[in-house]
Amino acid sequence: MMKLGIIGWRGMVGSVLLDRLKTCGDLERFNTTLFSSTQKGLGPLGELKDSFDLKSLSSMDIIISCQGSDYTQNIHPRLRQIGWSGYWIDASSFLRDKSNVLITLDPVNQKDIESALENNQKDFVGGNCTVSLMLMALGGLFSKNLVEWVNCVTYQAASGAGAAQLKELFSQISYLKEMDLAQDILKLEKTVNDKLSRSDFPSKSLQHPLIGNLLPWIDSEMENGMSKEEWKGEFETNKILGKKIPIESLCVRVGAFRCHSQALTVKLKEDISLKQFEELVDSHNQWVKVIPNNKADSLKYLTPVAVSGSLSIPVGRIRKLSLGPGFFSLFTVGDQLLWGAAEPLRRMAQIILNHTEQKQDLRRDYELSRSP
Ligand code: NAP
Repeated sequence: MMKLGIIGWRGMVGSVLLDRLKTCGDLERFNTTLFSSTQKGLGPLGELKDSFDLKSLSSMDIIISCQGSDYTQNIHPRLRQIGWSGYWIDASSFLRDKSNVLITLDPVNQKDIESALENNQKDFVGGNCTVSLMLMALGGLFSKNLVEWVNCVTYQAASGAGAAQLKELFSQISYLKEMDLAQDILKLEKTVNDKLSRSDFPSKSLQHPLIGNLLPWIDSEMENGMSKEEWKGEFETNKILGKKIPIESLCVRVGAFRCHSQALTVKLKEDISLKQFEELVDSHNQWVKVIPNNKADSLKYLTPVAVSGSLSIPVGRIRKLSLGPGFFSLFTVGDQLLWGAAEPLRRMAQIILNHTEQKQDLRRDYELSRSP
């Protein structure tokens, strides 16, 4: 059995990953060990190992790290230096821009994954959450090479920033719970707003109120006025597709708990009908689904609450724009902890396992054919 090590299982992505591994029966196919940087003793799968212990780590065939970029930057090169030749699958962005590392999203780039494995490539990363969700939503247009450019505005959930941030959003909600709703509306609004700027208002992790607010900057600042999150939109999409498509983004954190939403304007290289557009989107993979562009269906199926915890990728509000031929707008929602993070990693581990077993079978058949 292949030995699988998971680091960061307590965090937002790691806990969803562990849940998916259990639900899909994957834990039965691997001998799995959980590592932690802060926890000791018994974990959900037995004795926890120290995530800085290179000896234990290097006994794994596959490592999935959901611990973050600092951890990867520290541990990954040291493991390679001591000669570890196992597979590293990462949720963090640290390795994504390295030329010998593949960003994995198998419904979109299965062939690239297979050839990377054939070429003995060992490092794989999941993509940025909004990138993976956009590619799952628009894969049908990209695969037909129809997209000239994309402009994207994101509405990203608190859990996209991590477990501590989501917990803090809940504390912010709980801080506001004592309200005298009988008050005059303007008084009530002022009382609540004043609470948001009190010194004891919980904002250690998020740095700002997120309840009753939004934060128009995600990740670090780049020199060109972009946030790093916005830069990733174009860089990672093109790396996954092997293309050079202009993709502009404006990324915003909102008070949704789980699920990122994106409003997209897409310019196609050729004009197609609304029906053709919808058919191309809808037929790309089994998870994407076109939602009819009406109020009732949009409010029922195209919200973070509706999608939370599911692999479904609804795409709605699809309209042909009056800006000219080939202009479309749409709105899409996806669970950024599933297709945006844990699911491509889980599936990558499965693909590696299948690939390894196939190779073993071939070797066995070959040896049998040569035995007298
Ligand atoms: P996270 O929730 O902050 O978890 C990372 C680690 O922080 C945990 O493994 C845990 O490590 C520690 N931790 C500190 N406080 C914690 C708390 N209150 N509850 C649970 N764990 C806590 O980070 P994440 O959102 O899972 O992200 C992990 C990596 O995936 C990051 O590089 C991120 O950029 C990337 N990513 C995240 C998302 C997303 O939607 N969140 C999507 C795509 C990619 P110990 O057990 O060792 O203490």
